[in-house]
Formats: sequence, C-alpha cells, structure tokens
Amino acid sequence: DTQRIDGKAAAAALSAETAAKVTEWTASGHRRPALAVVLVGEDPASQVYVRNKQRQTEAVGMRSIGHHLPADIDQAALLHLVAELNADPEVDGILVQLPLPKHIDTARVIAAIDPDKDVDGLHVVNAGRLANGLAGLVPCTPLGCLILLEQTLGREALRGANALVIGRSILVGKPVAQLLLGANCTVTIAHGSTRDLPDAVRAADIVVAAVGRPKLIAGGWLKPGATVIDVGINRVETPAGKSQLVGDVDYESAQGIAAHITPVPGGVGPMTIACLLANTLKAAELRRARLLA
Ligand code: NAD
Repeated sequence: DTQRIDGKAAAAALSAETAAKVTEWTASGHRRPALAVVLVGEDPASQVYVRNKQRQTEAVGMRSIGHHLPADIDQAALLHLVAELNADPEVDGILVQLPLPKHIDTARVIAAIDPDKDVDGLHVVNAGRLANGLAGLVPCTPLGCLILLEQTLGREALRGANALVIGRSILVGKPVAQLLLGANCTVTIAHGSTRDLPDAVRAADIVVAAVGRPKLIAGGWLKPGATVIDVGINRVETPAGKSQLVGDVDYESAQGIAAHITPVPGGVGPMTIACLLANTLKAAELRRARLLA
C-alpha cells in the first residue's frame, strides 16, 4: 500500500520544535528573533502569503516586522530599505516576497541582502555554501523536501539511493539536488531538455518533482516502492468546472506503485513556512555567533 506523507503534521511538529527553541533562546537572555518581511505592491496571492508568514512567525514567539511598499517604488528606494534592514541590529532575517514588479531587478535586490540574514537562502553566497557543504541558510522548500525524506526513510536509507530531481530552478530543483547529494544520494537532474523522462523516473528510488506541469509524471513510470516528493502546485479545472490544486505527479495512478507520496495540497507546501521559521531562528544564532567572533 502507498503511504501518504503528511506534510501538514510534519510542519506542525517542526514549528512546535522551533517555538520550544525560541522559548529557550529568550529564556537565556537573548531578544526574540525578528523577521523583516518586505512586500512590494498589491498582488493578492503575495499578500496572502505574507500575512500567513507573519502570523506563523508570531505564533512561534518571534517578532515579525512588516514593510509594505507601493508597486511603483523605485529600485534605489527598495535597495535602500534592504541596506537599512541589513544594518539594523534588531533584525535577524530579511525576506523579500517574490515576484517583484517588472521594473525591479530581482537578482540585484537578492544580492543586496546580507547572506546571514537571507532566510530564503537565495543569495549566491548561500547557494555557494550549500554547493560546498558549508554552513549557511538553505532555501525553505528544498529544506522541507529533505526533512520529509529523512523522516519517511531515515538518513541511512538515503545513502546511495538513486534520487531523481525533476526541474533545475534556483528556487527548488538545484538546491534540492545539492541537499540530496549532501545526504549521499546518487543524484540525477532532469529538466525541460531531458530526452527520456519516463526512463529516468523508472530508475529512481526517490523522485522529487518540481516542474509546474499538472500530472506530468504518470504513476506507471515509477519504480515500484519509490518515494515521491511532489513540489508542484498546479491549478486546474475539474470536468465539473471547479478549480483544484494538483501536483506534478499523478497521485491516483501512483497508488499501489509508490511506497510513499506527498499529496498536493498538504505535502511540501506546509513545510515551506515551517522551514522559514526554522531559518529565522538559525539566522539569529548566526548573528550571535558573528557578534561573538
Ligand atoms: P520553474 O518554472 O522555475 O522551473 C521548472 C523546471 O522544470 C525548469 O527547470 C524546467 O527545465 C523543468 N521542466 C519544464 N518542463 C519539463 C519537462 N517536460 N520535463 C522535465 N522538466 C521540465 O519552477 P519552480 O519555481 O522550480 O517551481 C516548480 C513547481 O513547484 C511549481 O509548480 C511551483 O508552483 C511549485 N513550488 C512549490 C513551492 C511550495 O510548495 N511551497 C515552492 C516553490 C515552488
């Protein structure tokens, strides 16, 4: 039988752990870890995400500092705010909600964030640290994927396993592949130019799908007993005309073939914010270590 990996429960457990560590941190005399969230413009989805992040930050006992800027803010003003947050001793983590308006150079804004406050783990310095096996801040969704795999299979089962990552974005695919390599998997990365995706899937003990195409991966391609982490979030219309979220993997046809699979929604999604909170605490610890050094 196929086991459904419960990302909601795993996220709740991780956040409870973070909350306990925050209590310990403040009890030993440190100020509460603080996350600054920068939102530019009025995109409704981004507003929902930001509100959610702020609410959950406070729920684990950390401080949330919101900065809402108008959609037409110029790049220099945004960079100025980032510089201020970098220099602010009261701020541990900085998150700039993406996407940014088109007139803003996103790469430049991310590059301006202090890497030790970069709780999204998107700065090139953090990507480099991850690639070189150095301590740093790891992107939240990839970290969530690794934690789910470790909890489902155990660290030892990852050693030498054939892991296929589908997708090579800076946000998901590449960092997931680096984390799996760090966990001693034999890693293959498939992408839009891969010639025979079904064949690559057939060889994989672990499949992490991060493409953004509804039900691209058929259950019948999977190796029997494979573990599937489905990062894809795709909005589709049902035959009845209703809107529904589905993953990159066809969840129904994977039943009875995969050993474990994350549902969409309720799989990787909830882990992302839980990892953001864990990263904010980690940033506070990094900041403290830097002050002591
Ligand atoms: P992206 O568009 O930046 O990257 C998609 C990748 O898929 C590319 O590297 C491309 O080469 C590859 N690809 C495209 N077509 C392919 C094909 N036919 N076969 C194999 N590979 C193919 O997307 P992203 O930002 O990496 O996000 C991927 C998906 O994950 C999206 O559905 C997104 O919504 C979702 N996502 C979820 C979370 C979360 O759960 N919190 C976070 C980030 C992204």
